[in-house]
Amino acid sequence: MILRIALPTPLHRLFDYHLPLSSLKTPPKRGCRVRVPFGSREMIGLIVDTPEQSDLPLAKLKPVHEILDDEPVLDPNLFELGLWAARYYQHPVGDALAQLLPVLLRQGRPAAFAHATLWRATADANPDRLSSSAHRQRELLQILLDHPKGISPDAIRAEGGHTPLLKTLTEKGLAESFEHLPDGRHAASRDQILREPPLTLHDEQAGAMQRIRASDGFKAFLLYGVTGSGKTEIYLQAIERTLSEGRQALVLVPEIGLTPQTLTRFRNRFNVPVHALHSNLSDRERLDTWLHARNGSAGIVIGTRSAIFTPLRNPGLIIVDEEHDSSFKQQDGFRYHARDLAVVRASREGIPIILGSATPALESLQNARAGRYEQLNLHRRAGNATAPRFELLDIRQQPLDAGLSDELIRRMHQHLAAGTQVMLFLNRRGFSPSLICNQCATIVDCTRCDAHMTLHRNPPHLHCHHCDRQTPIPRACTQCGSHELRPLGIGTERAEDALKHHFPDTPVLRVDRDSTTRKASLEKIMAQVHRGDPCILIGTQMLAKGHHFPLVTLVAILDADAGLFSADFRGMERTAQLILQVAGRAGRANHPGEVILQTLHAEHPMLQTLIGSDYLHFARQEMQLREAAELPPFTHHALVRGEATRQGWAEQFLRELSEQTRLNTELPTGVQIIGPFPSPMEKRGGLFRAQLLISSHNRSALHTWLNALVHEAQNNPQGRRVRWVLDVDPIDN
Ligand code: ADP
Ligand code: ZN
Ligand code: ZN
Repeated sequence: MILRIALPTPLHRLFDYHLPLSSLKTPPKRGCRVRVPFGSREMIGLIVDTPEQSDLPLAKLKPVHEILDDEPVLDPNLFELGLWAARYYQHPVGDALAQLLPVLLRQGRPAAFAHATLWRATADANPDRLSSSAHRQRELLQILLDHPKGISPDAIRAEGGHTPLLKTLTEKGLAESFEHLPDGRHAASRDQILREPPLTLHDEQAGAMQRIRASDGFKAFLLYGVTGSGKTEIYLQAIERTLSEGRQALVLVPEIGLTPQTLTRFRNRFNVPVHALHSNLSDRERLDTWLHARNGSAGIVIGTRSAIFTPLRNPGLIIVDEEHDSSFKQQDGFRYHARDLAVVRASREGIPIILGSATPALESLQNARAGRYEQLNLHRRAGNATAPRFELLDIRQQPLDAGLSDELIRRMHQHLAAGTQVMLFLNRRGFSPSLICNQCATIVDCTRCDAHMTLHRNPPHLHCHHCDRQTPIPRACTQCGSHELRPLGIGTERAEDALKHHFPDTPVLRVDRDSTTRKASLEKIMAQVHRGDPCILIGTQMLAKGHHFPLVTLVAILDADAGLFSADFRGMERTAQLILQVAGRAGRANHPGEVILQTLHAEHPMLQTLIGSDYLHFARQEMQLREAAELPPFTHHALVRGEATRQGWAEQFLRELSEQTRLNTELPTGVQIIGPFPSPMEKRGGLFRAQLLISSHNRSALHTWLNALVHEAQNNPQGRRVRWVLDVDPIDN
């Protein structure tokens, strides 16, 4: 018999193997894992097909070494989703499918719970049958008697029991082991699901909830709701219904570590197991969660991007919170977008999906406009919270101290004196983004990137934020030898210094990647903020994500202009999202909030729209520009990215690739090729990069041509000195 196997290789193809029929108990199924020889080693792959014939003669096929599963590890829906995603993102199919599996399954370990074997005392076990001198046996038996439902060997050891003696007790008829499989359904019955009563929905929420309740089968909702409008409450009540039907909910969030509050809210609300898939899990814990989800015992699974591939026995609802967040797009290897796959998955499973955001992606708004999603709006904040008041603070001709204007400092004093907290946002970590020579104006650059080195003070060093290169601070300018090197520009460390100087009696808490590397340091900072005493938070976009800071009444964006003039056509959308997300941290409880944007461009139309109107209004204007320029979401993009050790190689490879593909495959009408050009930061990490953009109004035409292009690229001998990847629906051009 022939098995067609998907193997995790860079090749865009499947591999045929031969399975001696005699070795079969049951016929192997699609989605089961196999162990096969590949080159000089073994690999784990997935059965995709059992074809009648192979392109190779049977004698040439290598034999399968082992079939690892009796039942498929991936259910048919998920398996099909994986195949679909591999085709859509033009990623090698074996590698794509492997990424659907937890690491331990990729390594060939059994798809079984860690603590499947439990121990208990036998029904008639009596400690008196052990001699009084057999202390350790008596102790061990007592532990078993204390756990009538069974206990794992690990747990026995944790209680001080000596597990090798389990064998002795078994021989004496005092102990027995049994296989424990967690229940196939989350245990809570309909009237036990809630642990706390739900909130009474306000009018807008009730309207949205009614639409969600009315849905039957697949339906995509775009839940637009300003920060603090009660989107999470809607998720909770939608999940309540899912659970009461005995089904499971999958919730995708940008980042769990940063927002443990969200997890707590889910756990406080429901009596069902809530499993979180986050980066601190061990491979073992990850597999156990995966198994709980697969057998139905997990009620709710919350995770980041890759959680979209969690198997669910009884799927009922998918939620993508902060759907605009760029972390849902994987930026290397298999470049899928978890939000977009979530919609595809919901449609295949025939269940509803809610995409929520205060600042939806223009792609999602366009999908709503085209009728593919139903848009639900929450314009007002929930409870007593009111919308924050925006103010553009014109800093032209204003003296600034480490990015702080006198007016801002004055306003900070006012808020702190009133006993509330202040949050400042600056999206540049480090002390200063560059080090410049006072004599000849040379700036210290990274030798591996087209970028300046960032100066850090604590500890003192230079750091390239693009390739991670770190060096000591040079004493003299490499060009003129002058010793007068000075920091140019402001990073969070520098702002922190200045704040400590201006507010000597107020705690200044810095939140960025450098200040939170040590475990639990972010939690400590958050705990201090939540104690409620006046303090000043200064940080990067880590602060913008999802936190509730009920006592923050003033939010200031030190440099609102940072993204206004970006070369990327998405720059404006990103800036608007960031500003509104940061602003959303202000005044979330009973205290009215104030948002100050320091800017040199107070008359800029985007800033004016944002502060005078709302995100939807901004988005409508931005959409008109995109439509006129034939940019996404009105066209579809794919980028071929190349990189090589010499300048020009990647560009040349892409040019030849483009020409060769056009020679062999007629360019479908409506497909446009732009470039190749050097990438926006041509040199990065010592490699020279270029990109070729393919744009089309028509998705299937685009994909036809991409297929041809990948085929050419795989057969291009130049491909060996140029590393290339295809990025379908890129989010940074
Ligand atoms: P979002 O997810 O849109 O930011 P949340 O669901 O977190 O909003 O709600 C913001 C705050 O308002 C929370 O403290 C929440 O408990 C509260 N809240 C939400 N809905 C209601 C409601 N219907 N009545 C009273 N308070 C509410
Ligand atoms: Zn110099
Ligand atoms: Zn660098």
